[in-house]
Amino acid sequence: MKRLAVIGDPVGHSLSPLIHMTWIDALDLDASYESIRVPAGETAAALDDFEHQAFLGLNVTLPHKQAVLAKAAEKSAAVEAIGAANTLSRLPSGGWRADNTDAPGLIAALGRLGLSDFTGKTVLMLGAGGAARAGLFALDRAGADIILLNRTVEKAEQILAECCSRPHLSGPLDALSDHAGRANLVINTTSAGHGGAHIPLPDGEGRLFYDMSYGAPAEAQLAHAKAQGWKIEDGLGMLVCQAAESFSIWFDGVRPDIEVALTACRTSLEQNA
Ligand code: NDP
Repeated sequence: MKRLAVIGDPVGHSLSPLIHMTWIDALDLDASYESIRVPAGETAAALDDFEHQAFLGLNVTLPHKQAVLAKAAEKSAAVEAIGAANTLSRLPSGGWRADNTDAPGLIAALGRLGLSDFTGKTVLMLGAGGAARAGLFALDRAGADIILLNRTVEKAEQILAECCSRPHLSGPLDALSDHAGRANLVINTTSAGHGGAHIPLPDGEGRLFYDMSYGAPAEAQLAHAKAQGWKIEDGLGMLVCQAAESFSIWFDGVRPDIEVALTACRTSLEQNA
């Protein structure tokens, strides 16, 4: 049996077991996927332990996305640029390979909304934390022109330099209205919604406002965006698409059914609302 898990702290809220077990069951695979709490500071010891227990792969969530890099024997180019991994696979020679599937997950999620050619498109990205790093890497390589706004401007400048291969613009979050007019798309990567806050938006005129958050933390922001005339979408599509990329790495290129996992996630969120 192939053993898989998501590690993090907290991790009980993670939808990853539901997503992966939906696919494992649908495809009748001999595999299991569980969630395991690993406290901060215990990353390295936990990875040694999971290797001895013959885990095939792990998803990695906060607070371990950077810490796992110290234990990775192999890293993808995306992991090197983003500075974080969300997927580990056990190498036949021992140790772990680190991938970042958040980046292709975002591109796939936007593709499902009909956005696939980013050349000459301006993306206004809000927030400069871990999620933004993967988004920047993906959109920079996809050819988009990016304007990155963050409450702490220095952080925006720093992650643009670290994650992007081309020059882009940065600025303070409160300059949003000055830049929104030329954006083809806005992507919110802030965690403002976790505290119940929302970022005020100007008129959307039917453009897409993509919020990487989902469930309760996305509600106030998406309700506001909708009222301002934006076409809205939450981050569940990205979550499921990044999971599909991880699944494909672990199961030799098998592409699982996105729609069935999305439905399972939406049902679960509604039941727990
Ligand atoms: P981080 O803690 O790394 O970054 C948070 C960012 O939000 C920072 O830029 C911070 O600004 C900003 N911020 C926090 N509070 C406020 C506020 N009140 N007003 C304005 N800006 C604020 O978080 P992550 O990047 O890891 O996660 C961000 C969101 O993305 C979360 O909701 C997370 O669930 C979601 N996510 C979704 C994924 C998906 O697959 N859909 C994948 C990964 C994350 P400052 O720098 O000034 O502190």
